[in-house]
Amino acid sequence: METRALQGFRSVRGHAAPIALLRRALLHGRVASAYLFAGPQGVGKDLVAHALAQTANCLAGPEACGACDRCRRIAAGIFVDLVVVQRELRDTATAKDREESADARHEDLDAKKLRQEIVVEQVDEVLKRLAFRPHEQGTRWILVREADRMNASAANKLLKTLEEPPTDTHFVLLSHRPSALLPTIRSRCQTVNFGPLDDADVSDVLRGLGLDDAHVRDLLPLAEGSVGRALVYKDPTRLAARKKLLDEMLAALRTPGVVVGSFADLGIRFKDPPEKPGQFGKTELDETLLLLLRHLRSESLAAVRAGAAPRQAVVNAVRADIVRETLELLDGATAFNAGVHLQAMLVRLREARA
Ligand SMILES: [Zn+2]
Repeated sequence: METRALQGFRSVRGHAAPIALLRRALLHGRVASAYLFAGPQGVGKDLVAHALAQTANCLAGPEACGACDRCRRIAAGIFVDLVVVQRELRDTATAKDREESADARHEDLDAKKLRQEIVVEQVDEVLKRLAFRPHEQGTRWILVREADRMNASAANKLLKTLEEPPTDTHFVLLSHRPSALLPTIRSRCQTVNFGPLDDADVSDVLRGLGLDDAHVRDLLPLAEGSVGRALVYKDPTRLAARKKLLDEMLAALRTPGVVVGSFADLGIRFKDPPEKPGQFGKTELDETLLLLLRHLRSESLAAVRAGAAPRQAVVNAVRADIVRETLELLDGATAFNAGVHLQAMLVRLREARA
């Protein structure tokens, strides 16, 4: 992954404003004890957090050299004073899953193999270390990926530490749903906002990962500024399956009088997590709804460009809100409830008016 060859902020594409802010903080010795990196998934928040820890700890400086002992160990993920907290694998994970996950960054893991929440034991584990000074004589960094996934007791435990942070220790909370964090946690952090990447940056990163030009061209419109999202659709078979489901949803919406009563009516075999090809779980539904959002946006754009009345664009904006609400609801829903939410969504989409 990119972190292997990490050379501080130079390894990051885009995000000029957040990086300028962090560089200033480093330069003036005013690095916050806790940051909240807020912004879309898959745009590089994690990479920036690693680059920050590397720059703060580099033995050469002021920019991370990428070559000193600490820079190399941070890049290799073996720096004792950089601790990553993230959702753990479910108990049902196989030995192969564990082997794969040991070496993977969180967003590379299959979401359905992960636990729903970050639990208090994980936070305890990290806080125990804080009783000691950093091992490496530098600064210590605690990264919490998908911080909004901390359950209430984990969040409250962390909050106590954020209120009285130990010296030489910095927290970076990463979240694409910052509003789902406890307000008390948010107020203890300096928020750094990340936006989507430019298409040129997404292309460069994808090419850097070894994708050929044709593949990058296909994925770019789906990426919407997120490398992570582009990679979700990297497998053409997987993308085709999502598009098929999307077409079925759109057809059901267009056919007047059709009452969508169940997944089966839509040709969806719902099983979370899926056990065989052709079955859809929550991850697959999420990915399909993101395609639906994109479809609504491009339909609106086309309508506006064709000089048509703006009605279609307004209806689609209402529909996009409904889809986004459903995505929030699906996050953390049981399989049964996921079905209920999806059906409710289809009914609301059909009824949506300007
Ligand atoms: Zn260095």
